[in-house]
Amino acid sequence: MTEHSQLDDFERTGGGAVLMDGNRLRDEIVAELNAEITAAGSPEVCLATVLVGDDKPSRIYVRNKQRKAAEAAMVSRHVELGADAAQGEVEEAVRDLASNPGVHGILVQLPLPEGLDADAVLELIPPEKDVDGLTPRSMGRLVRGQPGHVPCTPLGVMRLLDRYGVPTSGTRAVVIGRSTLVGLPQILLLGRKGVDATPTLAHSRTPELQAVCQQADILVAAAGMARLVTADYVKPGAAVIDVGISRTADGIVGDVDFDAVQEVAGAVTPMPGGTGPMTIACLLQNTLAGARMLGAFPA
Ligand code: NAD
Repeated sequence: MTEHSQLDDFERTGGGAVLMDGNRLRDEIVAELNAEITAAGSPEVCLATVLVGDDKPSRIYVRNKQRKAAEAAMVSRHVELGADAAQGEVEEAVRDLASNPGVHGILVQLPLPEGLDADAVLELIPPEKDVDGLTPRSMGRLVRGQPGHVPCTPLGVMRLLDRYGVPTSGTRAVVIGRSTLVGLPQILLLGRKGVDATPTLAHSRTPELQAVCQQADILVAAAGMARLVTADYVKPGAAVIDVGISRTADGIVGDVDFDAVQEVAGAVTPMPGGTGPMTIACLLQNTLAGARMLGAFPA
């Protein structure tokens, strides 16, 4: 069983699991960023967002990112293109931001409307401004252990584990989902030197998923399958992190059956209020790091 003795000071669920509160940690990080930027004399640190089309959730995500950027004393720029924008128009918008020395981070909100080639658009973002960490160059740096931006959602998971004192070294971790956005980078981060978990990558063709998950001291669910992880997937005392978001008739639902799992887990994220806010917090941290890499903010 995982030792959670360091977790004694934190808020707990009714079942006794530590609540890994992403809203709270995001607010702490935003306040730290604000303090750091203000203390440096408020140089402009600018996050640019690009929204193409009229996907409602995407619009909400972008608005939240801009709102939190302002709270962190950052400036945001926003470029919006219609759903019928041509590939060339989107690429031109990103090229402009890439060459603008006043922009330190570029976030292209995905998914792009059907028919547009997202990879070709992302390729135009220089590594320093790739605050989402999704371009092949950033991913390559992550694989090779070189400095660069790390994708925000799996990085947010690592920040939660760290903040809530969940031990990683010597533990077994299971990540459900193998996307380049979440699952794959999550595996790399958990297995990194210094973190030293032993991660297993599970996916839709993994046999006996439940038995695999039962081995995990740290279980990260990023499948996008509503309430896939029930209490009988969870090793007693494990840390369970819910990344999945499914829109159902009951509203937004995570991959984790929170009510049942919090009775068994040692620590658990709420959904909403867990990994979502942390994704934004890490985006803003990456933006400040980008400004540093570009020499626009004191090292
Ligand atoms: P994806 O569809 O690209 O990947 C899903 C992965 O889950 C695939 O590798 C698939 O093999 C695996 N999978 C699907 N069903 C499974 C099952 N029944 N058993 C085992 N594995 C299964 O999705 P993604 O982009 O990685 O996103 C995953 C989820 O996380 C989605 O719900 C998405 O909305 C959500 N998400 C949340 C945040 C956040 O900030 N919380 C950020 C990004 C994505």
